[in-house]
Amino acid sequence: TERTFSILKPDATRRNLTGAVNAVIEAAGLRIVGQRRIRMSREQAEKFYEVHKERPFFGELVEFMTSGPVVVQVLEGENAVAKYREVMGATNPAQAAEGTIRKQFAESVGENTVHGSDSVDNAKAEIAQFFTDDQIA
Ligand code: ATP
Ligand code: MG
Repeated sequence: TERTFSILKPDATRRNLTGAVNAVIEAAGLRIVGQRRIRMSREQAEKFYEVHKERPFFGELVEFMTSGPVVVQVLEGENAVAKYREVMGATNPAQAAEGTIRKQFAESVGENTVHGSDSVDNAKAEIAQFFTDDQIA
């Protein structure tokens, strides 16, 4: 069993979609073992998306991620990292497969409802940025 890190982004909390997204996550067999609603600081968002800092959309991305509350989560299950990426769908909702979270809910490539770690190593680092061990059960 494996863990991945998930964020329900500000467009999800704004539209009251946290329960609907969690239903898709749980139906896919992923267990929500950590969950907290927070307001991300600019510093947290810049650190979290540091790999994208040279990209043209970086400023917009940090603005968006700090524009409202987010729900940070730890998901657990067999092949959780790859499974959650599959459940999320493509970054651009126009390219996302039927039934995926982004196909069902995302509004644009920028406001795309969810984040999921792209590797087991990144999942560990991202979980550690937002959770202590006693907050996961
Ligand atoms: P995430 O890291 O959020 O799970 P991802 O791995 O599918 O998404 P990345 O390439 O890591 O996609 O991009 C990180 C985030 O940056 C995207 O989820 C999206 O919110 C934003 N982003 C990516 N490409 C664009 C773009 N062309 N224009 C605006 N925002 C973008
Ligand atoms: Mg990514």
